[in-house]
Amino acid sequence: MSGFHAERPARDRRAYVTLATNADYATGAAALLRSLRRTGTGADLVVMFTDLDAASQDMLRALDARLVRVDLLPTSDQFNQTHARRALHGAAPFTKGEKPPFHTPLDNFAKLRLWQLDYARVVFIDADAIVLQNIDRLFEYPEFSAAPNVYESLGDFHRLNSGVFTARPSQETFDAMMARLDQPGVFWRRTDQTFLETYFPNWHGLPVFDNMLQYVWLNLPQLWKWTDIRVLHYQYEKPWQDHAKADSLRVLIELWQAHAGDGPVPDLRDLPPPPGAA
Ligand code: UDP
Ligand code: MN
Repeated sequence: MSGFHAERPARDRRAYVTLATNADYATGAAALLRSLRRTGTGADLVVMFTDLDAASQDMLRALDARLVRVDLLPTSDQFNQTHARRALHGAAPFTKGEKPPFHTPLDNFAKLRLWQLDYARVVFIDADAIVLQNIDRLFEYPEFSAAPNVYESLGDFHRLNSGVFTARPSQETFDAMMARLDQPGVFWRRTDQTFLETYFPNWHGLPVFDNMLQYVWLNLPQLWKWTDIRVLHYQYEKPWQDHAKADSLRVLIELWQAHAGDGPVPDLRDLPPPPGAA
């Protein structure tokens, strides 16, 4: 099969899959892998990558990840230009938060490569997330399940967030997606997320706790309960960056740092509530 190369066979029929197209997202992926291992899962851990340097690859391999080299999708020049960083930010500006300089929107579409993998069940997780409690039950959930993109208001429930989702790999599905993705004049304003929402209009909803977005801490503190949160997702600014919201997200950043390291991680019951919580 073209488009990807795995360096060793699968060990399980289920896999957690993430994507890292550059060293920054490899840093994120490493913390995600460590957090997943702490949940005691027996599923494979897969990192799809495009052109990571040897040091990043070795770091991920040492965490027992199965590395799968993938090509970016063979999209047209027009598609690539429309979804290039500057063009996309111009046509559909991000007004709620800042995307880091190392974020290339076009790379997001490579997530769709997971439909080509040799697994029966996949749970995809963005490289900027950590898993705080076991989520193996998601392997039993149907394709396509995702949590709503909740971080500000009720209107957020109309949309899904593609940072965590369930899938059943199938070359047939992949081919059908490719036929749909790159039509003349298309603009997927939030890249893979908008595409997946369109491709799976009857997507199944996961609880927000399976993909808790960091801005909930700032904007919807009444929704925050540490012991309920299974996946914490640092959308927009990344916890390994120096950024403008770092002071107000300090508790979350320190939790990410603990998961990224070798030492113990705090018990969720001991973490403080968000400042605005009742
Ligand atoms: N990604 C990547 N390289 C890029 C952009 C994205 O590897 O240049 C992958 C990575 O797994 C990342 C995901 O695609 O977590 C989605 O991007 P991001 O998490 O930055 O988007 P956000 O969650 O802020 O919308
Ligand atoms: Mn993300």
